[in-house]
Amino acid sequence: MLPLLRSIESISSCRDRSKLLSLLLDALMVLLGGQARVGIFSRSYDSQDGNGLMFRLGSGSGGVTGELWTDLAGKAQRGGSIAVAASNEWHCGALVLESSELWVDEFILVFATNHPVDAKEINAVESLARIFGHQIRLLDYSELDSLTRLLNRKTFDETFERLLTNLARSSRQSRKQDNNERRFREEEYPAWLATIDIDHFKRINDTFGHLFGDEVLLRMGGLLRNTFRDGDRLFRFGGEEFVVIINAPGRELAEAGFERFRSSLEHHEFPQVGTVTCSIGFTLVSKNEVSTSVLGRSDQAMYFAKHSGRNRTCCYEQLFDRGMIVTAVPSEELALDIDELFG
Ligand code: GH3
Ligand code: MG
Ligand code: MG
Repeated sequence: MLPLLRSIESISSCRDRSKLLSLLLDALMVLLGGQARVGIFSRSYDSQDGNGLMFRLGSGSGGVTGELWTDLAGKAQRGGSIAVAASNEWHCGALVLESSELWVDEFILVFATNHPVDAKEINAVESLARIFGHQIRLLDYSELDSLTRLLNRKTFDETFERLLTNLARSSRQSRKQDNNERRFREEEYPAWLATIDIDHFKRINDTFGHLFGDEVLLRMGGLLRNTFRDGDRLFRFGGEEFVVIINAPGRELAEAGFERFRSSLEHHEFPQVGTVTCSIGFTLVSKNEVSTSVLGRSDQAMYFAKHSGRNRTCCYEQLFDRGMIVTAVPSEELALDIDELFG
């Protein structure tokens, strides 16, 4: 009983959505016992091939035929009860989990035990899935901006801290491993932060009214979600200002990502309002930095873009190297050394 309560406590205090999925699996293992197999599939509706199912995390189907598990995951329906199946000595179940608005795919929980699952256990699994769902809804409610459904300003500092921890971790790994052999996972690439500000937004409000201004912001949120990838972090920072953090191996690729957005906005036709443009400034995020330094640099690059004609993407480091930004934003360093903490 105590281990299960502890698992539930971890779920209800977790603010990291992807970590929540693995905490749910931990709780399920405690509930079903050590012999159980548990896992999470993702289902993508955009997938061109097959049923869009992909095994994402968990103990795997070891001993359970993979096909049985995948078939069952495919049968699980949103809002439906647990789909069950059995083969040889394995008894399997699958159900669709509550989804965060930040997720493009939906996630399906699968489990298998070597004993028949009774109604009490089914109820307990459903209960755990509901606790997980409540936590996801709570996170979405408190962390998403009510108009654009992007992450809100309040969430930025926590996300930024998590990002620095990842940067510190990946730089430690790169020291330990041979760079040529190492295959980076995307989140281990350097992080780049961009400030995006809509050009002449006051004019839009003044000409068409605030309701149309809000509609532009709402659609801008959709465009950002469509242009950037699932793991990129998208914030509405203030009125018509957005912040995006992506991982990219170098400046050119980061710039290409931000430019793709600038260009897709430029070509989007807004009802009544017509075309809208934005100015973008971006900078490299180094480990041990405080967020205000990084934001200071990206703002400086964004203002440069504004003053040099708007509808442009500018990189702080490039402007600085070319002597086009004269005063460097002092890079305030964190008092603690993350490497030392985790080393
Ligand atoms: P610039 O190209 O220099 O950025 O010009 P701008 O007109 O966009 O200037 P600025 O960024 O200073 O203006 C922001 C305006 O955005 C001011 C405010 O009226 C408007 N605004 C801020 N929040 C909201 C909002 O939630 N909805 C709407 N409709 N307008 C907002
Ligand atoms: Mg502004
Ligand atoms: Mg503006």
